[in-house]
Formats: sequence, C-alpha cells, structure tokens
Amino acid sequence: MLAKARSNFADRNPQSRTHYDQARRFLPGGHTRTVLTHAPFPLTFSAGNESWLHDVDGHTYIDMLGDYTAGLLGHSEHRVIDAVAAALKTNTSVGGIHPAETHLARLMCERFGLDRVRFTNSGSEANLMAITTALQSTGRDEILVFHGGYHGGLLYFASGAAPWNAPYRFVVAPYNDTDRTLALIEHHAASLAAVVMEPMLGSGGCVPANEHFARQVFARARSVGAVTIADEVMTSRHGPKGMFALLGAQPDISTFGKYIGGGFSFGAFGGSAELLDQFDTSPEANRTKVVAHAGTFNNNMSSMTAGCVVLSDIFTAEVAVAHTARGDEFRQSVASVLARSGLPVCVSGFGSMMSLHALPKPPLNADDVAGRDIELQELMFLGLLERGVYSAARGMMNLSLTLTDDQLATVLDALEDTLHGLRQR
Ligand SMILES: *Cc1c(COP(=O)(O)O)cnc(C)c1O
Repeated sequence: MLAKARSNFADRNPQSRTHYDQARRFLPGGHTRTVLTHAPFPLTFSAGNESWLHDVDGHTYIDMLGDYTAGLLGHSEHRVIDAVAAALKTNTSVGGIHPAETHLARLMCERFGLDRVRFTNSGSEANLMAITTALQSTGRDEILVFHGGYHGGLLYFASGAAPWNAPYRFVVAPYNDTDRTLALIEHHAASLAAVVMEPMLGSGGCVPANEHFARQVFARARSVGAVTIADEVMTSRHGPKGMFALLGAQPDISTFGKYIGGGFSFGAFGGSAELLDQFDTSPEANRTKVVAHAGTFNNNMSSMTAGCVVLSDIFTAEVAVAHTARGDEFRQSVASVLARSGLPVCVSGFGSMMSLHALPKPPLNADDVAGRDIELQELMFLGLLERGVYSAARGMMNLSLTLTDDQLATVLDALEDTLHGLRQR
C-alpha cells in the first residue's frame, strides 16, 4: 500500500519531480534543510497566500505546517511586508545602532518578562549563545539536555546526542522522568553549567513537559548552581508570555526564534540582568570581564522591523491567548476523528502546535515517539497531501493566524477520509 501511495504521489507531481532532479545537481539531496525532504521527493511550491500554498503542478494546499511554527502569520501579512519595505528604503544595511532594535528589545523584555535580551540570526545561534552565557558565568563545562530535544542543527538530541553536534560536554537526560533527571543533576552537580529544556519537545513530536517535571528540574538545577535555559523558540507563541510561564517554571535565560521574525531570520536570548550583563561593554558598567557576542546580521533591519510589527501589532498577548485556546479546541477535534477511526493513531501537543502519531496513545517521551508504526505514519502524511492538506512528514501541524474555520473543517474531513481509506490496509 505504501509503494502505491508513493507512486500515486509521483504521478500527481511531475513538475515537482523535475525540479527535484535539477536541484539535486547542486544541492545534496535537492535541499538545504533536511527536515523538508521525504520519499519519494518533496513538493516544490510556487506561491502562497494567507494559509494557502500553491505547488508547481498547480495543486493548492491548506498549509497546516506553518513552516514548523515560523509561519504563524500566514503567507501574505502585509503589515509586516509594508513596514519592512519602508524600512529598507531608509537604510538597508546599517552597520550601526538603529531604533528598531531597541524597540524590539523593549517589546520582548516587556512581553516575556526579561531584564535584557540579545539578538541572533537563528534559534540555533540563540541556544549556542545562551549556553555560552552559562558556561562563562559558571566556569563549569557540562550541559544537561534531554533525549528527544532539539535546540538547532548543532544541538540535536532526537536519539541521544548527534555525532555532528557542537563539541560541548552533554549529559542527556530522559524527558518527563523527574526522578532520573534529578539524580543526574545531583550526580553532575559540581560541573553542571546549564540545563536546557523545551517546555514541549517540538521537533521531538510535540510532547509537552508535565508541570511537576519542569518545575522540579529547574529548581534542582538552580540549587546546584546551574543556569536554567528555556528553549521557547517554538513555544513562546503559547499563552501571554510563553509556555514555561504556563507550566509555572521560571528560567534564568529564555531563547526565541521562528515566528517573531515575521518570516525573516530571527533568534534571541534573554533573561536576568546578572547573566546577560556579561555582554555589557559600556564604560558605565566598567566590567573587568566582558563576553563578546558578534554577528553581522544580529540587528538586521528587516528582522528587527518585522519583529516590532509582529509583537506590537499582530501577535499581541491577547491574540496569543486566543490562538492557544483555538489550537486546543482544534486538537480535541482531531483527537475525536482519530478515535473514531479505530486505528492505532493519536495526537499530542499543546495550543496551536500538535503532532499526529501512528501510536495507540499519546507519547510521553522520545522512546514512545520512536515506537510509531512508520508505514502508517507515512500513509497518513501522503493521504493528507492527496486531499490537499500540507503537514510535516513527521506528523506535525501548527495553526497559523490566517487559517479559517472552513479550512480547519476541511482538514478534519480530509483526515477522516484518509483514515477511512487506511482501515482496509
Ligand atoms: C527551530 C528550533 C530551533 C532552531 O532554530 P533555527 O532558527 O532553525 O536555527 C531551536 N530550538 C527549537 C525548539 C526549535 O524548534
């Protein structure tokens, strides 16, 4: 059945196939972002508007991926595009300080409860710099992370630490296992510089942390003198000030990215003045030791301008709260459709982020996610594509602000129809 589903996909998408064949001559695998590829080949898109995507073979899809949460605004948010166009006419590459970066910094500090913030080009860099901040302030060298966690291309723990990770000394703990994680923190207490945690494994399958786990781990880490780093690159969209606040856990440093850049590359790390002021080079601060933080595009005009519009005009705290509730409601509808199918499929997630799993019950950690029926998982993905719904090959769906109720209803129908077709498998 899978071979047939793949060949049907190939038959429906000859132009994407041609594009893929050409791309492979210059880009290994035909891509420059591993997550975007899948068998038999990924689609090539020609245009998008609001929550619609158009491919080179003339198909139109409901975009349920929302670029892995970076596409929160949909594909045609004119408030951002117009503001960035106007700013670029004034000064494209400043090579100096400009007001938009201060404005965005203020918006971020006020929104997410940070004393200070610094900008980077990506979430990966934000996490690398947050780790640097912790290493420099503690003088220690071990970093506790979680199995199934993802903090960037060089901080990848999908199945333990990837061999290509940045060469830090990592301790990999089991997610949502409070006792074992606290024991690891105790064991490494003297050398632990930081604990880095996602409040929900995002790439790892939309597995939320339980509150007790998040709170206990951060409290214990702090008690042994380690810095707590909250990776909110995806999850700062939840609730008025991000997901850790909803879990009742307070980190020392939080990292950000994705949607805040409004479609432009973006990353940021921020938190307590004590930690962040290691970067304070001002004569007034008169510090004996300062940490340097470079990056040509850290304060680039387009990302800074877009970020201001996103946080002040579009995705306000009120909108964020409503969007989280809308996501919770939609995920419950998805769960009902899955339950009715009688197949071993389920959905996990929080707010406007979720993942379909070919598993009988929602996963609690990365090992559970690894137990998926991979053939059924792929058949769900290809079945949704055939019915005009674009999601992640691994099952992830993220609601953007432009999705209409009609589109969401169509997605539920497509899911129901897909699963109906798979019952005869
Ligand atoms: C996407 C992501 C990152 C990396 O951000 P990039 O901008 O892709 O480098 C880090 N952490 C989490 C949780 C992410 O989802």
